[in-house]
Amino acid sequence: MEYEPVIGLEVHAQLLTKTKIFCGCSTQFGAAPNSHTCPICIGMPGILPVLNKKVVDYTIKMALATHCNINRENTWARKNYFYPDLPKGYQITQFAEPIAEHGYVDVEMNGGKKRIGITRIHMEEDAGKSIHDEHQPASYVDLNRAGVPLIEIVSEPDIRSAEEGVGYLRRLHEILVYLGICDGNMEEGSFRCDANISLRPKGEEKFGIRAELKNMNSFRHVQRALEYEIKRQQYILESGGEVIQETRLWDDSQGVTHPMRGKEEAHDYRYFPDPDLVSIVVSDEWIEEIKKTIPELPLEKRERFVNTYDIPPYDAVVLTTSRELADFYEETVKNCRKPKIASNWVMGDVLGHLKEDKKDIEGSPVSAVSLAKMINLIEDGTISGKIAKEVFEEMWKTGKEPKKIVEERGLIQITDTGSLENAIDNVLKTNPAQVEEYKQGKEKLFGFFVGQVMKITRGKANPKLVNELLKKKLSAS
Ligand code: ADP
Ligand code: MG
Ligand code: ZN
Repeated sequence: MEYEPVIGLEVHAQLLTKTKIFCGCSTQFGAAPNSHTCPICIGMPGILPVLNKKVVDYTIKMALATHCNINRENTWARKNYFYPDLPKGYQITQFAEPIAEHGYVDVEMNGGKKRIGITRIHMEEDAGKSIHDEHQPASYVDLNRAGVPLIEIVSEPDIRSAEEGVGYLRRLHEILVYLGICDGNMEEGSFRCDANISLRPKGEEKFGIRAELKNMNSFRHVQRALEYEIKRQQYILESGGEVIQETRLWDDSQGVTHPMRGKEEAHDYRYFPDPDLVSIVVSDEWIEEIKKTIPELPLEKRERFVNTYDIPPYDAVVLTTSRELADFYEETVKNCRKPKIASNWVMGDVLGHLKEDKKDIEGSPVSAVSLAKMINLIEDGTISGKIAKEVFEEMWKTGKEPKKIVEERGLIQITDTGSLENAIDNVLKTNPAQVEEYKQGKEKLFGFFVGQVMKITRGKANPKLVNELLKKKLSAS
């Protein structure tokens, strides 16, 4: 029997506010343990939370970007559970009336688009962090993260493969970062994912029993964990067993999932409306105001790049991986008007060097304008494409303007017919045997002559001109 995976993802994204959701403590990552805390976020009795409006602004932004309906009145709930990193004994979250529902994102899959539904987006506070020390019989609790604002984005069970799951995650990640509301750092836990997965016989409508996977800290982990879990469940079903509804942890070093705990149900948490917080009323004006702050999103940007710059979709995907990179590319094109050539330089040399130097585009020592100037030097014949590589290296190292480098190093292309003819005559004279062979019909040798001319002109000869002159000379002599 053939089985089909059914996957729904829950993503927790940390919002980029300066302060926590219900108090004024800093959200900065990496501070000394428990230094960013106050009575509110460590859950002292009798405290009163006060909502950070930025959290709602950012959530509305994400909701609009993912085509959700905004609930004009939405409420807070307490989710009760005991855990050492949750001293209050409950988490403030949204339950029955989340801020946003019924959205979707389109994921590019094998040249097409697949629409994945979003069930809901809600706001909540993060818990603290338990730190287990291997060398001591003790665990520690750091409450700096307690009260940091999160949004939870729950997808419909629309995903049908590990690739689709990762595609969906990449898309959400990209949108959050484009919107400037999440730093997307998966290692620091700013973007976390739980995956629900079940299998059903192909053609069957009813969903199977699912497992929930946790502890995946990168897209690669998610991909591998889903692939493993599909195989595991398939094996169970094929051998006549039943999948247990449970939470499982991904172990990346072993490449397997382990059972962690039985799945808890919503009623286990005894959700109830939080009596300390009023409901949030979202006006039309508020939504309109947020709408104005939404930039062009990656998918639309990609489509525009393909349409207006006539570059391949592959280029458009690479060039829009961040807003800053896309801006850099557009600035380059604006100043040289050669979209495909600019794309080649940005994707190849610029990204290559950035990767080597472990830098983002913001840290590029070559500005978009300088790159465009260099492309212009190639286009107007001042330097050859080959010399341009050398110029670019120097620009990267020194930050100097291309024109200056070309002048200082005497790299200007030789386009003067007289001196090129001299060089060619020289080459033909010193290689009489090859000239003879060429005339006997060994036309492959043409490349050899071009190479020799380039060699004695130290790469500065205009290749097009060399070709022309060389052809003329060889057929004449
Ligand atoms: P919980 O609150 O227990 O985490 P939800 O009903 O909110 O459960 O669902 C969580 C996620 O699980 C959603 O993304 C949903 O699409 C997905 N999901 C629900 N049922 C299944 C199933 N049978 N197989 C796979 N995914 C599922
Ligand atoms: Mg869940
Ligand atoms: Zn606090």
